[in-house]
Amino acid sequence: MSDGSFSIDVAAIRERARARMDEGPVTSTYGRDVDKVIAVLNDVLATEIVCWMRYSQNAIACSGIDSAQVADEFHEHAKEERHHAMRAAERISQLGGDPDFDPETLARRSHTPYTTFADNDLTAMLKENLYAERIVIQSYQDIIRWLGDADPTTRRLMESILAEEEDHADDLTDLLGI
Ligand code: FE
Ligand code: FE
Ligand code: MG
Repeated sequence: MSDGSFSIDVAAIRERARARMDEGPVTSTYGRDVDKVIAVLNDVLATEIVCWMRYSQNAIACSGIDSAQVADEFHEHAKEERHHAMRAAERISQLGGDPDFDPETLARRSHTPYTTFADNDLTAMLKENLYAERIVIQSYQDIIRWLGDADPTTRRLMESILAEEEDHADDLTDLLGI
């Protein structure tokens, strides 16, 4: 294995680092249209907020026999979805964007639907949340593949969130007994 051809042009890098200092951590090596990445992350932010709302509503709506375990899981997932939202918002800000928390457009921008239940059907709630998790598992994988090595930090953020979404889907599968 030879890597003798690899070298870093420090002089050129130093010069580029001086240009566009206002872009902070976004430099000339950033491999995507940063505005597009910010837009994609803002839809992730909307998705995570809607997931937080859905799990929170569902946790409160749980009642009756056997509901405590399901409610506990929904509360835990709600907390984790809110954390995902804040991590996406932090990254948007780092990239020079404005995290969009506007409630007027949240549901429209979210990958997942906001589903509530008039009757207390634990199985239906678990299934709808599993459905939502299976949506984000696909859309976040698409985002991760699209980012590739162009923005490793955003990719790792999305990979870390994806791992927790898969864990959520697994928890719901266990509770459904499927
Ligand atoms: Fe999430
Ligand atoms: Fe989740
Ligand atoms: Mg869990």
